[in-house]
Amino acid sequence: MIISMVPRSTREQVEYVCGKIKSFGYAAHPIYGEERVVIGAVGDGKDKDRIISVMESVPGVESVIPILQPFKLVGRELKKQRTVIAFDGFTIGGDQFVVMAGPCSVEFREQLLSTAENVKAAGAKVLRGGAYKPRTSPYDFQGLEEEGLKLLAEARERTGLKIITEIINTENVDLVNEYTDIFQVGARNMQNFALLKRLGKMKKPVLLKRGMMSTLKEFLMSAEYIVSQGNGEVILCERGIRTFETYTRNTLDISAVPALQQLSHLPVMVDPSHGTGKRNLIAPVSRAAVAVGADGLLVEVHPKPEEAFSDGPQSLFPGEFKDLMDGVKKYVAVDGRSL
Ligand code: PEP
Ligand code: MN
Repeated sequence: MIISMVPRSTREQVEYVCGKIKSFGYAAHPIYGEERVVIGAVGDGKDKDRIISVMESVPGVESVIPILQPFKLVGRELKKQRTVIAFDGFTIGGDQFVVMAGPCSVEFREQLLSTAENVKAAGAKVLRGGAYKPRTSPYDFQGLEEEGLKLLAEARERTGLKIITEIINTENVDLVNEYTDIFQVGARNMQNFALLKRLGKMKKPVLLKRGMMSTLKEFLMSAEYIVSQGNGEVILCERGIRTFETYTRNTLDISAVPALQQLSHLPVMVDPSHGTGKRNLIAPVSRAAVAVGADGLLVEVHPKPEEAFSDGPQSLFPGEFKDLMDGVKKYVAVDGRSL
């Protein structure tokens, strides 16, 4: 339920209300707005009507209304203003369009460092690269693991780019946390609830990819797992879903972007690489992502895609990435945003 405090409620009143919420076995999530404090009370729904009537009579409480959607904390009902995630130098979820780019997998020092220089020069803010790869086949390249994390950190050192890398299990959370700026949860792990809960305890943003067979509701419920543990910095990423179409690797659900933004206050990015699986579809789909209001892109770039250990056919050559950025820049400007 949403407990709206009166304007200029005192800290004591807010603390009292939070204590009362907890005494019912619910969790209290205060949101401090400019005008007033709104407190989300989230629990199993038991005794809801009684709790609402008790809370309505607590001093400092103006109104109490139930949250109708099952995703209580990531939904717009409780928090109207968009979540803006700040990094030094840029934000995700505000007026900026942020591009994260790099190879599917970290392979070699030279491969990663040259890609990092190239994507930085073209205007990317974050370097991507998988050090742990969740591959469909156990015989395929599984990633350089910690060595890959070290290379990502070196690339950050050299370029000033932030880094994002995939976390595939709970065991590696502390290790990956020593290196990364943003945790990436892949499509295959969208419903790895133990991992989501663990990342909810971390103090770094999490980019959560949509599972390839997940509805928007399931996607938002997975984000809810992270946020309910205390980590509100979640970025949703539409990366295509599986349909009957086989020409493209997945079917990028472009309408998911505005739908998610209407349902949730979290930033929404688009991954046109996995979303299409085809190099020559990345640029047009990226422009579509800008047009529907996505907060940014996650794009695969490789110095020699034909030699890539993974996802070569959907990886852009560095020159193509520069062209993509130049094209996207114009659309971002038309939308009144900056890159
Ligand atoms: C990736 O980003 O390389 C990746 C494995 O993506 P997804 O989880 O969307 O398949
Ligand atoms: Mn990939």
